[in-house]
Amino acid sequence: MKRNHPVLAVVVPCYNEELVIRESATRLTGLLSDLIAAQKISPKSFIYFVDDGSTDESWTIIAQLHHHRESVIKGLKLVRNVGSQTALLAGLLNVREHADCAVTIDADLQHDEQAIWSFLEKYQQGAEVVYGVRNDRRTDTFLKKYTVLFFYTLMNILGVRIIKNHADYRLISQKALQAISDYKEYNLFLRGIFLDMGFKSDVVYFNVRERYAGEPKQTARELLSIAWDGLTSFSVVPLRLITFTGAAILVLSILSSVYILLQAATGSSIPGWASIVIPIYFIGGLQITLMGVLGEYVGKMYKEIKARPRFIKDIELF
Ligand code: UDP
Ligand code: MG
Repeated sequence: MKRNHPVLAVVVPCYNEELVIRESATRLTGLLSDLIAAQKISPKSFIYFVDDGSTDESWTIIAQLHHHRESVIKGLKLVRNVGSQTALLAGLLNVREHADCAVTIDADLQHDEQAIWSFLEKYQQGAEVVYGVRNDRRTDTFLKKYTVLFFYTLMNILGVRIIKNHADYRLISQKALQAISDYKEYNLFLRGIFLDMGFKSDVVYFNVRERYAGEPKQTARELLSIAWDGLTSFSVVPLRLITFTGAAILVLSILSSVYILLQAATGSSIPGWASIVIPIYFIGGLQITLMGVLGEYVGKMYKEIKARPRFIKDIELF
C-alpha cells in the first residue's frame, strides 16, 4: 500500500441525480488533476459513480462521461435501488482491487470536495480511516437537526461507538477495505463498522453546502431506518433493558409483599386484596425477567449470525 502517491478512488453514489452528475464530475476531475499536479495522488486515480438503480438519465450521463474520459471516470450500475448504504458498499468493494485508498462522497456536492486534501494528509500520516465531520448543520431542517441529536445521544447511552456529525464522507485505506469484505452481515451500518474495526483513524472537518440541484433522495423514512439499523446492529442493550425492568418489578413486588403481609397480619388491610395484588406484580415481574433472559440468548444468537470477524490482522511477521 502506497502512502505517498496513492491511487485514489472517489466513490460517488447516485440515485436520480441527472441534474448534478455532470457538475460533480467536473469538480471532482478538477480536484483530481490538482491533486495529481501537486503529487499528492497517483495519475491512475479515478472517480467511480455508483448508479443506485436510477430511473432518470443518470446512467446515460455516467456512460457518456466515461466514454469521454475512460481512465478517469468509471461507473457501476446496480440493477435496482438498494439505498445509499448498500450502494456505497458496492462501490467500495469494487474499487478495492484497483485503488490504495477510497473516498466516498455524495453526488449532490453538499460535501466540500476540497476537504479531500486534508483527508489525504491524514492518510499520509498513517490513518487507515479518515472521518469527515460536518462543521455545522445549518442546511438541515429543524426537525432533522433534533432527530439527529436525539439519535447520537441515544447511541451514546447504549454504548455504540459513533462519531458525532460524521457524514458518509470518509477516506478508507485498502487495509480497511479488505477488512470490510469480511463483514458478511446484511445490514451494514458503515458509520459504525469502521470504528468497530479499531484501525488508526483521524477526523477532518468540512463545510456543508446546499444541494447543488434537485431534491434530497433519502426520505426521512430511509434515514430513520439507517439510524435504527445502526442502533440494533451494534447494541443488544434494548434487550438487556427488558431484564432490568423485569428484575426491578420483581424486587419491588417482593418488598411490597412483605409490607402487605405485615399489614394483613395486623388486620388493617382489605380482605382479599393482598392475595390478588401480590401475585399480579410478582408473576408480572417474573415474566418480564424471564423474557429478558430469553432476550440475552437472542442477543447472543444475533451476534453469532452476524459472524463478524473476531479480529483483523494488522501486521504478521511469519
Ligand atoms: N443515494 C443513493 N441511493 C438512494 C438514496 C440516495 O445512492 O437510495 C445517494 C444520493 O444520490 C446522494 C447520496 O446518496 O449522492 C446522499 O443522498 P441525499 O443527498 O438525498 O441525502 P442527504 O443529503 O439528505 O443526506
Ligand atoms: Mg444530500
